[in-house]
Amino acid sequence: MSIERVVVLGAGTMGHGIAQVAAQAGCQAALFDVDPAVVESGLAKIAADLEKGVSRGKVEAADRDAILARVSAADADLAVAVAEADLVVEAVPERIELKRSIFETLGSAAPATAILATNTSSLPIARIAEASGCADRVVGMHFFNPVPRMALLELVRTGATSAQTVEAARAIGERMGKSVIVVKDSPGFATSRLGLVLGLEAMRMVEEGVASAEDIDTAMELGYRHPMGPLKLTDLVGLDVRLGIAEHLAEVLDDRRFAPPAILRRLVSEGKLGKKSGQGFYDWSAS
Ligand code: NAD
Repeated sequence: MSIERVVVLGAGTMGHGIAQVAAQAGCQAALFDVDPAVVESGLAKIAADLEKGVSRGKVEAADRDAILARVSAADADLAVAVAEADLVVEAVPERIELKRSIFETLGSAAPATAILATNTSSLPIARIAEASGCADRVVGMHFFNPVPRMALLELVRTGATSAQTVEAARAIGERMGKSVIVVKDSPGFATSRLGLVLGLEAMRMVEEGVASAEDIDTAMELGYRHPMGPLKLTDLVGLDVRLGIAEHLAEVLDDRRFAPPAILRRLVSEGKLGKKSGQGFYDWSAS
């Protein structure tokens, strides 16, 4: 099945980027949000990003116009918005009951052939899928921020996801220019689970005085060719966000590997959340 009409639910940080890569892949992309102002600002951010591409010589002006002509605001009624979709990608806030209620609507309102995807970064896909009544067509499509620039798409399949759904999601992901990996529905998927182990160990090493945050990051950047060390990355993601994921994985997977180090709890309780607060493992106040 060829995917031509994509509807993205939630036009925030992730949603507008997903609509952009869908339009760049040649699809008609519609953005839906409970807040119409977010749809408008999402459309404006897509236009601004493409404009930047034109000014840097990376996007042809004609391509920019064609891509923009393929993105629009969806109907304000969710059921109407998804009625003709080939693919729906949900990118609303990370709350299981909210996502389940949306998938319940999608199960009855989207076409019986549509692929229904969630961009959740941590919730169990199977719990979201079961609310739809058509779990064979539900898959995790975990994009990364900023979506137009991050090369990875992590597809998450549950025991009920059909092979056809995985292949359709893989095909559209590749058309969007992404390298696609397929992961079983399991806590932290592949990315958060591995990334967090490294981040938490780096924090424990700071706690134990093994080396400074700068030197630990340099070890991974120069010794292992990571584009960014685990502590700088933690500062960018947000220490509170990483603490939340660590607590979740400690509870559902293993509390020895994922128990949040004391230094992480302390910095979060002091309001040192990383770049967004000006201080984390690094001082960002000047940047
Ligand atoms: P966000 O808060 O920036 O955007 C969410 C949008 O959803 C908001 O504009 C909000 O108005 C809208 N919304 C709320 N309820 C809605 C509803 N019922 N119907 C339609 N829209 C609704 O959030 P985000 O950072 O874009 O995250 C969205 C999802 O993507 C989450 O599941 C998150 O875990 C996941 N994710 C985020 C990142 C990231 O770096 N931000 C990376 C990967 C995955």
